[in-house]
Amino acid sequence: MERDIDRVLISAEEIARTVDRLGAEITRDYAGREPYLVGILRGAVVFLSDLVRRIPLPLTMDFMAISSYGASRRSSGIVKIIQDLSANINGRDVIIVEDIVDTGLTVNYLKELLEVRGPRSLATCTLLNKLSRRKVPVKVEYIGIEVPDEFVVGYGLDYGERYRNLKEICVLKEAVYTDE
Ligand code: 5GP
Repeated sequence: MERDIDRVLISAEEIARTVDRLGAEITRDYAGREPYLVGILRGAVVFLSDLVRRIPLPLTMDFMAISSYGASRRSSGIVKIIQDLSANINGRDVIIVEDIVDTGLTVNYLKELLEVRGPRSLATCTLLNKLSRRKVPVKVEYIGIEVPDEFVVGYGLDYGERYRNLKEICVLKEAVYTDE
């Protein structure tokens, strides 16, 4: 894996500081409530598992799997539900937890899908944000770090299912893609 990395964009320390901040913001905003955190598989798993340990409130963790880019680096804009939530979110304070918001299509779709199920509130938390690539405007209440228009991997984010276990957010060498 190491030899595929061009450079580290965000260090493990900066990620940890960011997760601390997001956890504190959510803890403050949801005090006295019991948030229902929805991690989007598989990219958000690493982030969600660190995030929940910074929220000392009673909470529920659930997951949703949606179609990903596969081994490609660009969004098709088509989102398909592969695995739905395990419980009814009617009346719950739901927080969608994403690894990265890029075009905004995925979060936009998920918000519409979950809104009709009658949650008491619906918010979104993302570790990374690529504002420069937005195709649809989408409100994201909790944003970790703004990243440039580059394809990133690590800390849950993959390329062809690899690199999710890197501790940092990294940019891969161009050769990794051209060797496809
Ligand atoms: P959107 O629908 O906002 O374009 O894309 C959201 C999803 O695309 C993310 O959850 C993630 O799976 C994938 N994605 C977008 N940008 C990147 C990136 O730079 N690296 C990786 N690994 N996945 C990305």
